Parts: sequence; C-alpha cells; structure tokens
Amino acid sequence: MKVPTFEIASILEDIKTRISAEDKEKLSWCISQLIESSGKTDLTTHIQSGNTYLTEETLSQIEQHSSLPLIRLAISDEEISRKSINRRISLSSSSSLDLEISLPSANFDINDFNINIFELAKEFGEATLLSIYAQKIFAYWNLFISMGFDLQVFLRYCQYIGEGYKPNLYHNVLHAADVMQACHVFMISTNIVELSEMIPLHIAALMLSAMVHDYKHPGVSNSYLYMIGDKLAIRYNDVSILENYHVSKAFQIALKENMNIFSNISKEEYRTLRKLMINAVLGTDMTKHPQHVSNLSKLSQNNDLKGEKELLISLFMHLGDLSNPSRIEKICEEWTLRICEEFFLQGDKERSNNIPVSPLMDRYLVNIAKSQIGFISGVILPFITPLCREIKGLDFLVTNAQANKEVWAGRINEFEEKIVKSKDQSASL
Ligand code: AMP
Ligand code: MG
Ligand code: ZN
Repeated sequence: MKVPTFEIASILEDIKTRISAEDKEKLSWCISQLIESSGKTDLTTHIQSGNTYLTEETLSQIEQHSSLPLIRLAISDEEISRKSINRRISLSSSSSLDLEISLPSANFDINDFNINIFELAKEFGEATLLSIYAQKIFAYWNLFISMGFDLQVFLRYCQYIGEGYKPNLYHNVLHAADVMQACHVFMISTNIVELSEMIPLHIAALMLSAMVHDYKHPGVSNSYLYMIGDKLAIRYNDVSILENYHVSKAFQIALKENMNIFSNISKEEYRTLRKLMINAVLGTDMTKHPQHVSNLSKLSQNNDLKGEKELLISLFMHLGDLSNPSRIEKICEEWTLRICEEFFLQGDKERSNNIPVSPLMDRYLVNIAKSQIGFISGVILPFITPLCREIKGLDFLVTNAQANKEVWAGRINEFEEKIVKSKDQSASL
C-alpha cells in the first residue's frame, strides 16, 4: 500500500503549531522517522531546519525549462523577485521544518501532443509526473517569475494535489496531468494568447484549473451521487456536485500552511484568478457542453477576443477535458478502455443499488467501439470542427478524432464479441 507520507507529514506539521513544546518535540521525532522511512517516495524529500531558499540547482532547473518570457504582469520582474524572496524568507522562518522537494531530471518534450503519458508514468511515478508536467509548463510560461510562485510551495501543492487524486482507472492523477498538458499544447499551437491579450494570470488560471479539475474524483458521476443522495450531493445542492467539490477542495488546500501558492499575488489578482478557475472547473460539467458549443459563435476571428478571456479559459479547459479521442491511436485507446471500464463499474453499482443503469455504463449492453463512434460523431466532432474553423492551429484534433473514429469502426465486431462473452458469463453465474 502506498503511504501518503508527505500528506501525513504536512498534517502533523500543522498540528505541531497548536501543541505544547514537549509534545512538539515528540511530534518532530515522529515526522522525522516518517520521512526517513520513506526513502522510496515518489519525490525526494528531506528535512531542513531554519531558513530555506531556492537552491542553485532548482533555480537552474527553472531556467532550463523556461523558454518563453513572452508575457508579463504589469509589475516589473525586479519587484516580483523581491516580493518573492521576502515571502520565502518569512515563510521559511515561520516553520521549523521544511520539506525540500526536488524532482528527478526529465528530458521529455512537454510540447509534444503525441507524448506517451503512460510510459512516462512508469518511469517517474504517477503523482510525480503531475509535478514534473506542472514544473515544465509553469517554467515554459515563466510563471514562477511573473506570478511569483515559490517553487517549493508550488511543488508541495502539486504533490498534495497529485496524492489526493484517487486511483480510479480514468479519473486519476494522470488524467489531470494529461488535460493540463493538452491545454498547454493548445496555448502554444494557437495565437490565442496574443489575440486575446492574455497575461500570466490567465495562463496560470487555465493550467491550475486543469491540474485540479477532477481532484478527489470518486469514480462515479454527478447523476449517481444525486441518485443515491450522497453527502456530496447534499453539500452542493445537487448542482455540479463533483465540479464544485474539485475546485472548492483545491482552494482549501492552498489555505494550508506552506501550501499557499497564491501568496505573492495581490488580493485583486487572487480574486480574478479564483473567479477564472471556479468558472473553468464548473464549466467541465458535461451539462454545460451545449453552452460551450454555442459560445463558439463568439470566437469569429473578426471579433475582438480581448473581452472573451474568461470564456476562452473555460472553453480550453473543457476542450482539454475532452481531448482523449483526439490523442494518437494508442493513447486514445488506453484512455477509452479506462473510461469505459470506470463507467462499467458505475453501472455495476447502479445495478446492485436498483437504480437505472446510466447510458454507456452497462457492461452487458455497451459495445465500446460503437459507443466511441457515437461519442466522436455526436459530441467531439460537432464541437471541435467549428472550434478549429475559428481558432487556427488545432487541426490535428480533428484529424486524430476522425482517424480514431475509423479505427473504432474497424473494431465493432471485436467489441461485440466481448459483450456476448460477458452475457454468457453472467448467465452461467
Ligand atoms: P470529466 O469527467 O471531468 O473528465 O469530464 C469529461 C466527461 O466527458 C466524462 O465524464 C465523460 O462523460 C465524457 N467523456 C470523456 N471522454 C469520453 C470518452 N472517450 N467516451 C465517452 N465519454 C467521454
Ligand atoms: Mg470532472
Ligand atoms: Zn476530467
């Protein structure tokens, strides 16, 4: 069983601030034992007392990946770095223990849409891969400097988020990394940043939204939670239950000690970032899909896109979330088999709870190949075809989705046999 060492250590660290000096010492010993015994955690962690600064090594890691100082906030770099350094000093001195995180060096190309995330996950570990993706993407957009993100706080936040994703077949930490990378590729493949005059805050909003957009996903849908009257449905009044949950949790984590990635931006910037992220994550609720499609008409190249940043961020977030049918064949196939099996597991639960089995979720009825042809023809292509007409540079999405649809068409019989076998198995049970 994988022990979430870092998460436990952070909780204990938090408790330490509220107890007696004697108990504090005991707890420090427990934490150090915990960290020491986790020599094989995904990320290298070690205890450091006193002040912590970014090491030369981590700074050079940032520089190595930072290739596009293209956009900046209105304040000067010098001012940002000063604010950032001051903040680091005060953060560090407020805590007797800092867990310094350093990522393994990773030389893959984050800009490549054909990247094999499943192979990379084997090499680096799933949660670590989210942090590696995030570090590369945030460095690419120069966000550590322009948004004053402290690298250690940022990596701690990423790791916490990564470990909070559940090991579902589809809605897991790799899906978060995959969607974030898709959003990054969309931004570098189009001229949308320039056309709409986005600043780092907007890029940060999109990438952070993608990172957290399915945080703690339970592997079942909103309608299932609604039907069983789950606690989450009660908490969020049956409205975008999961999406409210993901984004709310993501902001709660940033309130924890040493997790506040937003500490170097102004209150106003924070409010804007928060609004954009909430809007983008809530927009991933599939009931909002028709709204995204109808919003496409506002994107005609003749229109002024400067006033459409919020809409664009939400649109690209949703596009990233629906990008698995537009990945190359092997990757598309892996995601598809994963989402379908996760759906089937929900169908099994529905059957055993005597509630109607949701569409696409009945393993005894659904032909996966046919379901994908329906999904690509009925949902994906009617969305991405007009989108690619309006926004240049994303034609590969349509080409790949069409090619994948052809591949699924050639596999209908293969998947028909799989259903028949399942029925036989269920009859013989
Ligand atoms: P999310 O659950 O946040 O990842 O939202 C995306 C939604 O799009 C999923 O819940 C599914 O309803 C749908 N979806 C994405 N990919 C597929 C796929 N390959 N086949 C069927 N539905 C999909
Ligand atoms: Mg979701
Ligand atoms: Zn998702």
